[in-house]
Amino acid sequence: RGHPARIAGRPRKGTYQKEGTMKAAVVHDFTQPLSIENVPKPEPSDGQVLVRIEACGLCHTDIHAAHGDWPIKPPLPLIPGHEGVGIVEALGSGAGEEISEGDRVAIPWLGFACGHCRYCNSGRETLCEAQLNTGYSMDGGYAEYVAAYARHVVKVPDAVDSLDAAPLSCAGVTVYKAVKSSGVGPSQLCAVFGVGGLGHLAVQYAKIQGATVVAVDLEDDKLEMARELGADYVVNAAEQDPAAEIQKLGGADAAIALAVSPRPFEQAFDSLARGGTLMMVALPPDNYVKLPIFETVLRGINIKGSIVGTHRDVEDVFKLHTLGRTRVLHETRPLEEVNEAFDDILHARNKEPRIVLTV
Ligand code: ZN
Ligand code: ZN
Repeated sequence: RGHPARIAGRPRKGTYQKEGTMKAAVVHDFTQPLSIENVPKPEPSDGQVLVRIEACGLCHTDIHAAHGDWPIKPPLPLIPGHEGVGIVEALGSGAGEEISEGDRVAIPWLGFACGHCRYCNSGRETLCEAQLNTGYSMDGGYAEYVAAYARHVVKVPDAVDSLDAAPLSCAGVTVYKAVKSSGVGPSQLCAVFGVGGLGHLAVQYAKIQGATVVAVDLEDDKLEMARELGADYVVNAAEQDPAAEIQKLGGADAAIALAVSPRPFEQAFDSLARGGTLMMVALPPDNYVKLPIFETVLRGINIKGSIVGTHRDVEDVFKLHTLGRTRVLHETRPLEEVNEAFDDILHARNKEPRIVLTV
């Protein structure tokens, strides 16, 4: 709690320019809607940059943060948002080595990592125990300005639109990393369970890896979209048993679990071929799945968790987009309509898989 980085990033008295205020969507109470209000504009502290936000993707995690759904609850008041993209307007001391004023950057979930622990030192900074998370333990992108650590923001190439860069910086990198970590490759079968904000990108990264892709969802229009994005097979889990259908194809070498309830995780497990890998990615509020030990052992199944991606992974995702190898499907809403946008996501009323808030 006394971590200097936390204090720097949080709305505490004395850390703001006296004259400046900004518009932000603030969580004061887990049971209440976000409040659109004027709050003091942050000032970048040591190692930080001040970013003027252009767009911020709406990730399901933001809803969990605002509702206090998870075992570790964020401190309040909180400005959510970890898919913020904008222009660097000012530099704190020591922040100018790689980032300059005028750079366009993304501010991902990993807002701070220590840089010297065994995880940070082995290319696994997303596992750092001292990490701070944007829009969770630090204020995030549902605001006109964010103070972010220069070391952790990622430059957005000119060819990548801000409205595309926003979802790529969490949804994109999360499934890019999960597909990569699954080890799935050419001639193998990759099952994607849930083709919403994350899944529509997972289908594309699995195709980039050369895999044959089967997409699973409960809605036909999402499955149609998955086909347009390259899925070779689709299964509507409301009508057919996805595990049985995928076993008919020989079983999945990798199954990426992206739906926010435990049942699809179990179905993903049951869909695996021998030696296959279940990638746990989504974070359902209901925290437990029931998986058999016997079949896991005899069938040589791997079960792995995957959390977002590193700085380098975000760069890779932007590079693939620059090369025209991914499409980001999104619709936009003004920041002021964030509560309506939350409602639409919770009731599956969004027309495109990702909503991006414009600031
Ligand atoms: Zn996210
Ligand atoms: Zn560390």
